[in-house]
Parts: sequence; C-alpha cells; structure tokens
Amino acid sequence: MRFERYGKGLAKGLNITLKHVFRPRITTQYPEQKLTVSKRFRGYELVWDKSRCTGCATCAKSCPQGNIEIVTSRGSDNRYVVEKFEVDTGRCIFCGLCVESCPYDALFLGLDYERASYRRGDLVLSKEQLELGPGKRRSGYFRPEVESTLPRQTLLLDTAGRKKQD
Ligand code: SF4
Ligand code: SF4
Repeated sequence: MRFERYGKGLAKGLNITLKHVFRPRITTQYPEQKLTVSKRFRGYELVWDKSRCTGCATCAKSCPQGNIEIVTSRGSDNRYVVEKFEVDTGRCIFCGLCVESCPYDALFLGLDYERASYRRGDLVLSKEQLELGPGKRRSGYFRPEVESTLPRQTLLLDTAGRKKQD
C-alpha cells in the first residue's frame, strides 16, 4: 500500500516534468529581444503634444502628486504660450489622471519602460524631452484612437500556447 502510494507520486511528478520538457520555450533574451507591452501600458513617462496644448494647466491641477509644473506667458494673439512644461517622473505614480483630465487630448502616457538612472534629477523631464516626435511612443491608455493603431501585446502572454488554441 505504501509503495503504491509512493509509486503514484513519482509517476505524477515525472509526468509534469515531461510535459515541461516538450513545452515550447517562452524565454526572451532581454535586452536584445523585447516583447510588446499592452496597448494601454502606462510607461515611465508622459508624451506631450505641443501643437494641441493650450497651457490651461488642467493636467497639473489633476495630478495628486503635484508633479507637473507649467509656466505660461501671454502670446500676441491673447493665447497662452507654454514656457515650461516639466514632469517629475521620479515621483509619478502613473495613475493617468493628468491624461484623462486634459480637455484637448494633448497628453498621453508613454510605452517605454527603460529609465534606470543614477541621478534623481535625470527623472525630471523637460518639455523638449516630453514632446511628441520621432521615437516617442504613445500609449493607448485613455486614447482609443491611438490604441487601435498599436500592435498586439506579447509581454507575459504564452503566445506559443495561444497559437495552439487559435
Ligand atoms: S500620471 Fe498621475 S502622478 Fe503621474 S503626472 Fe500624471 S497625474 Fe501625476
Ligand atoms: S491639460 Fe492638456 S491642454 Fe491643458 S496644459 Fe495640460 S496638456 Fe496642455
């Protein structure tokens, strides 16, 4: 009776091991290889569309961390000119409230996630660093028009397993 019980346990254990031996590998050789994050990923930074921003500062007022600093001056056509638009990403909790509150769809969360730094000051991003342009990847978080253009997520998904099911 005792031997039978131990034998069953052994067979069960080996069965699980064998299943894993033949399972397709899902390891990614980061940082050489990278997976695609969620379309609505809340990355380490904000992306700012200068052309749409009116300098209203609604985003700054919505930030629970007081992270966004905006300084404006009055332009010749009586519109605000944004002199300073600075975000301290070191204190940011990436809640997305600033993005949600922007009435002009000028603010986005980013898709990038690599920003290790030795200096805290490097995490304070200026308007030039936040500005939408080549290399800036916007997240689809709260922006369905952006989300519809992004590729499907592969990060943390067992894509090999999913392909078999499809
Ligand atoms: S994501 Fe949240 S914490 Fe970060 S700047 Fe926007 S409102 Fe502030
Ligand atoms: S809420 Fe939008 S339009 Fe207003 S200052 Fe912030 S980013 Fe610019």
